[in-house]
Amino acid sequence: MTGVVLNNVMKRYGDVQVIHGIDLEVDDGEFCVFVGPSGCGKSTLLRMVAGLEETTQGAIHIGARDVTGMDPSERGVAMVFQNYALYPHMSVAQNMGFGLKMTGHPRQVIEEKIAEASRILKLDPYLDRKPKALSGGQRQRVAIGRAIVRGPDVFLFDEPLSNLDAELRVEMRVEIARLHKEIGATMIYVTHDQTEAMTLADKIVVLRDGHIEQVGKPMDLYHDPDNRFVAGFIGSPSMNFLDGTVAGGEIEVPGLARRVALPVTLPEEGHGILFGLRPEHAELDPAGESHVVELTEALGGVSYAYLTAPGGERLIVEERGDFRTPAGTRVGVRFPVEKAYLFDAGTGLRIR
Ligand code: ADP
Ligand code: MG
Repeated sequence: MTGVVLNNVMKRYGDVQVIHGIDLEVDDGEFCVFVGPSGCGKSTLLRMVAGLEETTQGAIHIGARDVTGMDPSERGVAMVFQNYALYPHMSVAQNMGFGLKMTGHPRQVIEEKIAEASRILKLDPYLDRKPKALSGGQRQRVAIGRAIVRGPDVFLFDEPLSNLDAELRVEMRVEIARLHKEIGATMIYVTHDQTEAMTLADKIVVLRDGHIEQVGKPMDLYHDPDNRFVAGFIGSPSMNFLDGTVAGGEIEVPGLARRVALPVTLPEEGHGILFGLRPEHAELDPAGESHVVELTEALGGVSYAYLTAPGGERLIVEERGDFRTPAGTRVGVRFPVEKAYLFDAGTGLRIR
């Protein structure tokens, strides 16, 4: 049993509190992703699990052990950083084996473990090279190999792909997913990139300002966000949000130039609402003329039409197939009402 459990975990730097009472369970063997905008506390929380930052208050368990006050080396974790942190004067093999050498493991054991990690990460051709003779992707594989060699209960990754170019990032993402499948260890992975979170995670933890906004499986967060923040963060392009008001048991949405009736319990007449509609759930209605197509971005398989409503409100609608509505065209916007989301304009909480 090597899950990770956080109980009311807090971090303060002097008077500034950056982590506000986090409760979380990461199951044994789970791939858990902490995602959120820059500065929300992802690295701090991960480093607290690693023991690189002291926990101001609360408790951290790894498996059955309370590790809250333990040194990093006693926790059974291995961390992979964005900047690789390799020793430049050591070869790939020496970099991977260094930790075990320092803890006095026999040479033969170290060599076996390096061979195993090298096989998993396809590093055999590079074992004698120095880091400077490797590409960014290869360096990051060595850093991951160094973690594998240590045989940790829990792998911790802090934005490991952020220094790679876009193509390599996708490639390494797939490799990390494969690695998790092959070794099955518990992994906690920090990223600001919602695509990485969606594609890698069994469980996503969305963080903002040191608080958890929502925890769930990727598709649950996409289909059933609890609040405006999660709805806007998960999904690309982002969900459209239009101001609305409760009027006569319906929602008046000027940005759609219409009222919408939804099967939810609405607040009182006149209450402010945010109306949420994903670009992929809406379509252009050639028979309508409420909106103007300002421009379209064609990506090949799909394109995005940027619309302006009569009052200047903006929204993005996805178009599929080969036809692209030209800029300047007047259109309407159609969508299945069950695909629309409502949020309280004041609290941002979902109205269901
Ligand atoms: P993220 O990894 O999500 O970008 P961090 O965990 O690095 O965010 O930082 C969270 C917050 O904690 C930020 O507001 C940052 O400025 C603050 N912070 C991080 N380290 C320190 C420190 N040593 N002293 C004071 N504030 C810090
Ligand atoms: Mg960070």
